[in-house]
Amino acid sequence: VVPGLGVTIDDLPLRENLRGKSPYGAPQLKVAVVLNTNENPHPPSEALIADVADSVRAAAAELHRYPDRDAVALRADLAEYLTEATGVQLTTENLWAANGSNEILQQLLQTFAGPGRSALGFVPSYSMHPIISDGTDTTWLHAVRASDFSLDVDYAVAEVTNRRPDVVFVTSPNNPTGGSIGNDELRAIVEVAPGIVIVDEAYGEFSDQPSAVELIDEYPTKVVVSRTMSKAFAFAGGRLGYLAASPAIVDALQLVRLPYHLSVLTQAAARAALRHRDDTLAGVAAIIAERKRVAAELDALGYRVIDSDANFLLFGRFRDAPATWQRYLDDGVLIRDVGIAGHLRVTIGLATENDAFLDVSRTLAATDL
Ligand code: PMP
Repeated sequence: VVPGLGVTIDDLPLRENLRGKSPYGAPQLKVAVVLNTNENPHPPSEALIADVADSVRAAAAELHRYPDRDAVALRADLAEYLTEATGVQLTTENLWAANGSNEILQQLLQTFAGPGRSALGFVPSYSMHPIISDGTDTTWLHAVRASDFSLDVDYAVAEVTNRRPDVVFVTSPNNPTGGSIGNDELRAIVEVAPGIVIVDEAYGEFSDQPSAVELIDEYPTKVVVSRTMSKAFAFAGGRLGYLAASPAIVDALQLVRLPYHLSVLTQAAARAALRHRDDTLAGVAAIIAERKRVAAELDALGYRVIDSDANFLLFGRFRDAPATWQRYLDDGVLIRDVGIAGHLRVTIGLATENDAFLDVSRTLAATDL
């Protein structure tokens, strides 16, 4: 017997704004080909594995002590990487890190949103933005993308001007649709934003658009760029997200961050992974080449494929996307139903995985479109 079984969530004194809501829940299934959570398909190199193991081993000798609360060495490494990647000179004071960029986003809403405040996003976008808003008791303001899933900047500027959100989310490249927005368009939104603009660049390394870190010095009270090691860095299991912003914004986040949130093991492993970045990031080009190949093949099969700057593709149009999702799964290919009518999302995997996906797509093109 399970102690406590028999009561349900409805019997609990739940916060009103959480009633009836669903948790984040991408299926974690044991399937031959897993292309549903935008992970990097390339496993870590032997050299990286050895460096992580050695670094964690050394860190284990300090496990009786709390870790560096400010994660200074890790933030210095991240600043060095992001400076190199974007051409914008950043320092440790501009960087902050947490257990995945989800925690970064949560800390940002805890600091700049919360009860009585609002966050606005352009849907369809990353499903955790409204979920983290609910979790922090922030009012979620639903704005939309155009029918081709691009962001209409005049519309976005009008929405932000009229609704005056405390936080605006702009995801670029956007998950689950794949397109990016340029810094001039972003500037137009930031200009009218009354509060913080979070540019979620989780897939930034897959895009050739300049990073929004270029706007930090121009808008030090407004622009925050959120990034992650989960995608390009092939470090999803390590849980390391980070942001770049003005030092004042990083200071403000200290008011809500839990002390010692990044374990000594996480900090050591992330620093080791960063040391091998040239090697890891070399794999990004291969993923982009595969994305182009898969997009062209889907297009030739008669699918609608949305232009993507990321490591995934949104495609359709299916008569019944949930039913088609199940057919892929029955054939051993797990992709994602992101709730957009007629469309599904596939993460770009290894060439062999993409081939397996395309084989199923070839069959389904005859029946499901
Ligand atoms: N932002 C976007 C747009 C994402 O797609 C994801 C991962 N799916 C994240 C943030 C969070 O990633 P993590 O917490 O692993 O850094």
